[in-house]
Amino acid sequence: MTEMQKIPRRDEIPEQYRWDLTTIYPDDAAWEQDIAAIESMLGDVAALQGRVARSADDLLAALRMRDQVSMRLWQVYVYANRRFDSDTTDPVGQALAERAGTLAAKVSAALAFIDPEILVAPEEQIRAWLRDHPDLAVYEYALDQLLRQRDHVRSAEVEAILAQFSDITRAPGEIFEVLTNADLSFPTIEDEHGQTVQLSHGRYMRLLRSPDRRVRRDAFIGYYSAFQGIRNTLGASLAAQVRTHVLNARVRNYTSSLEAALTPNDIPVEVYHNLIATVNANLSRLHRYLRLRRRIMGLDELHFYDLYAPLVPEADVAVPYAEGERLVRAAFEPLGEEYGAAIAEAFGNRWIDVYENVGKRSGAYSDGAYTTAPFMLLNYQDRLNDVFTLAHELGHAMHSYFTRKTQPYVYGDYTIFVAEVASTLNEALLTDYLLQTRDDPTLRRYLIVEQLEDIRTTLFRQTMFAEFELEIHRRAEAGEPLTTELFSTIYRNLVARYHGSDVMLDEQIALEWARIPHFYYNFYVYQYATGLSAALALHARIVNEGRPAIERYLRFLRSGSSRPSIELLRDAGVDMLSPAPIQAAMDHFDALLGELEQMTAGAQQ
Ligand SMILES: [Zn+2]
Repeated sequence: MTEMQKIPRRDEIPEQYRWDLTTIYPDDAAWEQDIAAIESMLGDVAALQGRVARSADDLLAALRMRDQVSMRLWQVYVYANRRFDSDTTDPVGQALAERAGTLAAKVSAALAFIDPEILVAPEEQIRAWLRDHPDLAVYEYALDQLLRQRDHVRSAEVEAILAQFSDITRAPGEIFEVLTNADLSFPTIEDEHGQTVQLSHGRYMRLLRSPDRRVRRDAFIGYYSAFQGIRNTLGASLAAQVRTHVLNARVRNYTSSLEAALTPNDIPVEVYHNLIATVNANLSRLHRYLRLRRRIMGLDELHFYDLYAPLVPEADVAVPYAEGERLVRAAFEPLGEEYGAAIAEAFGNRWIDVYENVGKRSGAYSDGAYTTAPFMLLNYQDRLNDVFTLAHELGHAMHSYFTRKTQPYVYGDYTIFVAEVASTLNEALLTDYLLQTRDDPTLRRYLIVEQLEDIRTTLFRQTMFAEFELEIHRRAEAGEPLTTELFSTIYRNLVARYHGSDVMLDEQIALEWARIPHFYYNFYVYQYATGLSAALALHARIVNEGRPAIERYLRFLRSGSSRPSIELLRDAGVDMLSPAPIQAAMDHFDALLGELEQMTAGAQQ
């Protein structure tokens, strides 16, 4: 990809490489009709208010109505947003997406009375209805999930007041977003070619990957200098966010904010503590990797701006899209015919939007509704890395596809806790296939480094984030004032412990907490670390056991959110309540590291 290359307009991209949105609606007019249909359904919804828990029939009617309205809304939303993402400069797409967003807020407000009304009914009553009315049976697990929260739901009067405060408890995160995206101005630096570039969030990561150390260092120092100027405001907003989590836990009778965050998703807090303990027990391996990184890069001192620099050149193979398709199809062959047939559908029925065009959303994702194909957005540029992105997004898409083919609407999506399992597992299969079929030492070294970096950034780094989150919440729970100074001290100590003595503790890094949006998400990031561990463990089972492990894995893909995430994974062969999967990922890291050490034994000492 040369920078001079002109980015094509969308209508210049051949149709076969654009997703087929006519499978959702033949045209925008049909979309309009569905918007109108949803609006009129809201009248029927309102008529149910005050009657949800009157009888089994009323309860069933309310739950079915909620499914129908939200299923249709989801479809409307997916069409509008795929349309918008295809070309964000197109005012028609913009308008569609905005209207879908407004309608979504309206629908969610209109449906808000249903759960509280169910919770007001005596539990024995609901259990009796479930026993006596077979039509309600499908909702049993969903109702279980709701009833489990009963101890944490307050009186109707208190709930009504809390609901009015919910806008305000979101404010710290909103302030963070506006401050760091709209108001924050970054300095300029000179890039590799001596051109002046203005730093931005997007450019920062790209510049940090530059082989030119001067560029990396200037980007690092420049980027953090911007945060330095607003650090106290960011400290105050994060402190406020943490206090809302602590307050929520107290008001809802949880023993800690960690418990309040994990319990609604049915994740025991041991999973969180397990992760932190197991990663901590293996930190010497990360230190060893960083030492090797310093040696391979030939540096006296390894700084934080050296951590993302390419350790080995990307295996220099251009992979055109057709070849990328062939590679992933071959790599997924171990998963069997049914999986292969679904992959063929993805390619054959235009679920994938392949190439970049003017105005197209950047990055990659998979996103569809219960009633649509699981569409994928790529910005494919013929690099090996793009083939891994393709494999990754196909993993998400297959999880959605098999779930929606099997589960009723109410369980037709999967939880965040398991969301990265299928995508990561596909990347591991692609790595296997390339290692088995290509006899190229450069490629082999590249693939090993990529896996090490994945584990470093996903398992080690996100666990460090998780530990920071836990610590600042504990301090708040103990009544300590949360200050910018305290955040930086806690963060600096964590960074030092995780990275060991082979990385120079640049003063800027103590402020990294200030730029991480996820700290506003309420104990979210640990799921990246557990997700990667679960995927690696399932992959190992598939490789070692074959057919029975694959059958269990496919059952997992079909299960959506029909049972607790921990149970679904356990049935697939991974017990996230035990340290074993995390430890296995750590051992895998160790094995890869040993191989890289051998390969580079001749490198500069
Ligand atoms: Zn993903």
